[in-house]
Amino acid sequence: MVMAKAVEVLEQVKNAKDYGISFGEATINLEKLNARKKTVTKIHVGGVKSLLEAYGVEVIQGAARFLSSSLIDVVGLDGIRRGLKVRRAIIASGTASAPAYLTGDTGLSIDTDQLLEVSAAPPSILLIGGGATALTFATIFSSLGSKATVIEESDRVLPEIDQEITDLLQRELKKNKIQVLTSAKPLRFFEGSGGEAELEVEVKGEKTKLKAACIVRTARLPNIEGLGVLEIGVALNDHGGIMTDAAMETSVTSIFAAGDVTMNHLSTPVAYAEGLVAAANIAGKKATINYSAIPCWSNTIPAVCGAGLTEAEAKAKGYAIRIGRFPMAANGMATVLGRRTGMVKMVIDEKYGQILGVHVMGHNAPELVHEVLLAMRSELTPLDIADVFHVHPSLSEAFWDAANAADGASINSFSPGA
Ligand SMILES: Cc1cc2nc3c(=O)[nH]c(=O)nc-3n(C[C@H](O)[C@H](O)[C@H](O)COP(=O)(O)OP(=O)(O)OC[C@H]3O[C@@H](n4cnc5c(N)ncnc54)[C@H](O)[C@@H]3O)c2cc1C
Repeated sequence: MVMAKAVEVLEQVKNAKDYGISFGEATINLEKLNARKKTVTKIHVGGVKSLLEAYGVEVIQGAARFLSSSLIDVVGLDGIRRGLKVRRAIIASGTASAPAYLTGDTGLSIDTDQLLEVSAAPPSILLIGGGATALTFATIFSSLGSKATVIEESDRVLPEIDQEITDLLQRELKKNKIQVLTSAKPLRFFEGSGGEAELEVEVKGEKTKLKAACIVRTARLPNIEGLGVLEIGVALNDHGGIMTDAAMETSVTSIFAAGDVTMNHLSTPVAYAEGLVAAANIAGKKATINYSAIPCWSNTIPAVCGAGLTEAEAKAKGYAIRIGRFPMAANGMATVLGRRTGMVKMVIDEKYGQILGVHVMGHNAPELVHEVLLAMRSELTPLDIADVFHVHPSLSEAFWDAANAADGASINSFSPGA
């Protein structure tokens, strides 16, 4: 996130001349940026440590392994081995980068942890996987001067976000010289030459070789190896993560799982929610997880964010729908900021007026979407959003306008038939 913020600041600095501000050429020093990243991480890890101490939680740093459902073996970083008897446990061991798996990849690719440590932007970077992480890194390294390419096996990137928005995003990425190849299956690595490795890729049925100085794997696998969970009978789900019920309890009674290790949705807000549900149930309350309106976002420039159903998904589910659209170009604050690219799109159930999905591309999109997420979780309608006073000018107003447009009467854009 610090890196994504840095390239956004760089963009703003480059656009400063539009406000009559001029100074010398702006550049990013990656080593100093990495130092800033470490400081931010240190502050927040320190904060969590203090909270745990304040709550009286004993933290043992080490590698844990279940010997049975009630006995955990921990080899501590201090070298001490402990046997912990437990009545209940939550597995929250997260994910790790998938190891190199393609033929010929004898150390020719790196993972995202290694990418975060590079001290200089490579001349060219190829990211395998068109998820949010890959697109964000492509944006970052492109801004830092790398020629960036993303390859995605399916026919489009970010399938949780409405295709109208991801098509817009792909167009913007292309304008920013970021190449995104969809329906592109990575096949095998070759040594290459001149400091570049080669990746053979099948794009829409045709084989081609892509060269890059840095090739990055973005896939993740659940951290279950060596944890002993399979041995004690914990079942896995279709994604290879730990299977749970709605109470976040695994197939072994009294063992719960939460966060990325479930492979349900690899993001912090979902990890928080699952952890809270698991903890509540362990504390004797009755809680179940509610996965509605999970945001999916990417810190590209411009950023995108979506939650709930896409237009295609809503139609496939048999909903009669109407759409509320609003272009960022008609939003006053977007113009003030010089960030007029993008749009808000709301998918509305025609029958009850419920907001089924919200999808947006625009500056600060992941910060702005929360009022609609609240509306979706509370089963509100666009009229409820339209009824709220929105600060003018503000980027949030675009949601107000989209909500009004859903009812056929946006003030700031032409609504035929209004
Ligand atoms: C490059 C990158 C960028 C990301 N950016 C974002 C973002 O901007 N926003 C967002 O919401 N999400 C982001 N994510 C995802 C986010 O990091 C995860 O969703 C979140 O950290 C999941 O939390 P967790 O507690 O489940 O797992 P983790 O945070 O991975 O924590 C798991 C912990 O368990 C430990 N562990 C594993 N095995 C054992 C064992 N056997 N014994 C003891 N300890 C063990 C691990 O060392 C780790 O400390 C990003 C992920 C990556 C890889």
